Amino acid sequence: MKLTQQEQGVADEIASRGPALLDDLRLHVGLPTGMGNTPALDETRGLFTDRLAKLGASIESRAGEPKPAWLRGGSTTGEPPPTAICRRTDRKAERSVLIAGHLDTVHDPRGDFRELTVAADGKTALGPGCVDMKGGLVIAVHALEALESCGVDAAWTFLLNSDEETGTYHSERHLRDEAQKHDLGIALEPALADGSLAVERMGSGQFMIECRGRSAHVGREFEKGVSAVNVLAECLVRIARLPDLEAGKIVSVGPLEGGVATNAVPDRARAWGNARFPEKSVGDEIEASLAALATDPTAMPSVEVFTSFNRPAKAFIPATERLALAARGAAEDLGQVLPFAKTGGVCDGNIMQDAGLPTIDTLGVRGGGLHTPDEWIDLTSLVERCQLLAVLIARIAGGAVSPA
Ligand SMILES: [Zn+2]
Repeated sequence: MKLTQQEQGVADEIASRGPALLDDLRLHVGLPTGMGNTPALDETRGLFTDRLAKLGASIESRAGEPKPAWLRGGSTTGEPPPTAICRRTDRKAERSVLIAGHLDTVHDPRGDFRELTVAADGKTALGPGCVDMKGGLVIAVHALEALESCGVDAAWTFLLNSDEETGTYHSERHLRDEAQKHDLGIALEPALADGSLAVERMGSGQFMIECRGRSAHVGREFEKGVSAVNVLAECLVRIARLPDLEAGKIVSVGPLEGGVATNAVPDRARAWGNARFPEKSVGDEIEASLAALATDPTAMPSVEVFTSFNRPAKAFIPATERLALAARGAAEDLGQVLPFAKTGGVCDGNIMQDAGLPTIDTLGVRGGGLHTPDEWIDLTSLVERCQLLAVLIARIAGGAVSPA
């Protein structure tokens, strides 16, 4: 296939937006949206929703839901962040697309890594969240604006959440609700290092093992104590036998917590951990093995097990394959390449597809060093990936990709 005249017009319009894309990236990287920093999250959300409202989208803010208290870092102070649902319907589009983006990053808003620094050759830049995923958010807004200015009818909902990096607990329900209302899904995570599209993802589960014993003074009445740390250690030995790399079964434990002083038998010990699995049956097996560690809650000592396997594995199902092939077709028509790959990483694409929406989730920009102070972006990918996104959205709207 070749680009249609209208698609070529969209690609040209985006090519002319190069400097504006970089300006927007600089602006958004400079807003420190890491670690639940509400003022920056609110400002970022406002900047994006204002732009989308100008395209005729209705803007709705949905309240965040609470997160399980046992999760590491689970006890958030203050209100959970809202999710913005920016919806443009009432169009002649054949199919609707849900575009998901997260505003949060993992970076410390008080740290030294604060702004976008462009390399001397102008080809790359460093900055907190520049690829994960401020670059993705910026290209998506420009892609939708370019489609609008070129007269392409598209029905889309742009969902902006603020808690993807901490597990999407506050926004999961909204993401699932919206997934059910659309035909196809796109998430704006960065491309894999070589520019690949991730078409298959492992699932991820969080867990916490809490052991309770009886405290006693180590010197005076050691015999009356029951060490929760020892009980936890026994559990951890059993958990250490669970991983099976051939079967893609990954279970990691850490951090740990137990006891308060060396001269007291510890009456409480806890361990948090993370599991990864290639398919639901393996995730279920891990969850069952963890649950089997639990005792009667009134026993002495006792073991309680908490699990949240909320990011199911994302398989390369036929509908996702059609969408991925459409993305590859659009890339090739634009003179780009789009290889496919698998990853153990998880993202909101796992949740969207689990809710029934065929989704491809690495349509953001290219770069690397995610979640580190060396996070970098390939600046040439701003225009390229924006063009790819726009042409793909135009083709979805035109009915070129069948969701069923
Ligand atoms: Zn991300």
